[in-house]
Amino acid sequence: MVKIFIDPGHGGTDSGAVGNGIQEKNITLQIASAIQSILINEYSNVEVRMSRTGDETVSLNQRTNMANAWGADFFLSIHINSGGGRGYEDFIHSNLSSASRTAQIQRTIHLEVITKIDMVDRGSKKADFHVLRESNMDAVLTENGFIDNAEDASKMKNPAWVNSVARAHVVGVEKAFNLQRKLQVQSQSTPYKVIIPNLAFWQARALVAEFEQRGFRAQGVALKIYGPNERAAAGDPYMLVIDTDFENAKQLVIELKTRGYSRTYGEKIL
Ligand SMILES: [Zn+2]
Repeated sequence: MVKIFIDPGHGGTDSGAVGNGIQEKNITLQIASAIQSILINEYSNVEVRMSRTGDETVSLNQRTNMANAWGADFFLSIHINSGGGRGYEDFIHSNLSSASRTAQIQRTIHLEVITKIDMVDRGSKKADFHVLRESNMDAVLTENGFIDNAEDASKMKNPAWVNSVARAHVVGVEKAFNLQRKLQVQSQSTPYKVIIPNLAFWQARALVAEFEQRGFRAQGVALKIYGPNERAAAGDPYMLVIDTDFENAKQLVIELKTRGYSRTYGEKIL
């Protein structure tokens, strides 16, 4: 088993960076929670722990102590930047050489995230951050855009962006630690549909692509009935339908609700 420790930056009384109506502590928790559920749902040889799973105050010492006591193989710290720049960057500890295993892991994650995050590439860097210095295992800290940059912040508000950034981190970790994907087992249990009502077209399209990649049959259904001379418009509502079974439906409803699709529900197929 590969032990992955995920550290959503800040939390509780420490909001982290703030800007454009959002707080770093909330975005880091959304990204980290999505990373956790993708790892647990889709990989077989991985164990995951988080430094926090809610809006809790956790000190830097507590974070590294938890990971060290557990004997994690990897410490992944998720942050959002601020201070007048824009774009994505990641860090390993200053004492590490570019030939180190940690630097290799950093490059692997960087390559995956930068192709998905849709932000300026600020590069792979080194710093003397507490979580990088005091953790006994390989550790990488990612700064996923600037909260005080309007363009970066508007991406952070989008659940599809959060999910694709999380998935890119996961693919990086998969490659660096040789994680094994779970086999999609054909199930004999009751067929169910998982439904998210009322999505924008682009959300439905992104989710269909994601769930097809995960081995499901998924469909975006237009909810509007068009007259003979009417054309689809950007704001028209769509519904996402995923075909699955009862057991998967239960998990997917929980996953999608955590990801911000609060109106997700499961429906038995008659
Ligand atoms: Zn931070």
